[in-house]
Amino acid sequence: MSSLANDYKAVNLSQGFPDFPVDKELNELLYKAVKGGHNQYAPMPGIVELRNRISDQIYRNHNKKINPDTEITITSGATEALFAAISVVINPGDEVIIFDPSYDSYVPAVLLNQGIPVRIPLTFPDYKIDWNKVKSLVTAKTKLIIINSPNNPSGSVITETDITNLKEIIHNNNIHILSDEVYEHIIFDSNRHITPLSDDELYRKSFIISSFGKTFHITGWKVGYCTAPPNLTSEFRKIHQFLTFSTSTPFQYALSAYMKNKSHIKNLKSFYESKRDYFLKLISETKFKPLQCKGTYFQLLDYSEITDEKDFDLAVRLTKEYKVASIPVSVFYEKKTDNKVLRFCFAKEDKTLEKAAKRLRKFK
Ligand code: PMP
Repeated sequence: MSSLANDYKAVNLSQGFPDFPVDKELNELLYKAVKGGHNQYAPMPGIVELRNRISDQIYRNHNKKINPDTEITITSGATEALFAAISVVINPGDEVIIFDPSYDSYVPAVLLNQGIPVRIPLTFPDYKIDWNKVKSLVTAKTKLIIINSPNNPSGSVITETDITNLKEIIHNNNIHILSDEVYEHIIFDSNRHITPLSDDELYRKSFIISSFGKTFHITGWKVGYCTAPPNLTSEFRKIHQFLTFSTSTPFQYALSAYMKNKSHIKNLKSFYESKRDYFLKLISETKFKPLQCKGTYFQLLDYSEITDEKDFDLAVRLTKEYKVASIPVSVFYEKKTDNKVLRFCFAKEDKTLEKAAKRLRKFK
């Protein structure tokens, strides 16, 4: 959709990346790291300064002590971490439960490891996990359950009830959890980020995946990390070592220095909450109906009252004729389920959102 948006000079609200500049302070810190000579291979698990900062942050947010030496590995984006974690757990023929709509790297990573994706749709329109369905599909071959909260593309979040159900399912067997938490700091209203990290029993069988891309508006830096108990981390590192060996050194120094100032992360919720609210205000003047967005920087818009076109066709038409690009949510489903909703990224300058809304107002 981004390439179609470029071809048609459309406002691009399709792919998830900010269009505003990176904080000058972070730019300077990167320059300083390069100039200061941090240009050779970083240690395989990541530089100790950054792992320490992450461990402190986890303690502050979840009151959980994580050993930076044995439980945190810096990776080349969350994508690498997802692949490595899946490779640790999955052998040929193993089944992996994935909830649709799902982020697009999960299924290929499972298939490349010769695993079998078992895709379960979230309920519509609130995008919740149907635990009865999950329980009916767990077999002796189930080895991994992938969760993603806040969820891309739906903006839904998991709750304590989901954690209770997960615990019940993984009790006394060999099922692991992969928790994709790249939007952990972008969570709105009174919602709280719920994670297997906060529960000792769940954490023992979990890989928690994070990314600096979303948190510091630097999707192009591709720096992420995996938090997992020592026995899982040591297996994870065996894969990481031969996937990339280590992650770009100066980026790691810049990030560890930037994390000294805790307000950067603290301010993120209100920053994106106002973006979401502004986008919703602009959209209220159109015929689209917003679905609830509890987290992430994506807003789903229901167009079922305007047209019964397929979401894919409409996304293409909106890009070509109205010059606003979005993502059809059906592409995140195994069976291309079409609930007549499009995903719009609001990680954009206000003027970009205004331009998009002005064009969407013409669509009736
Ligand atoms: N998981 C989800 C849910 C995402 O939305 C993204 C980025 N779009 C990633 C993982 C990948 O993150 P990274 O860019 O750090 O590899």
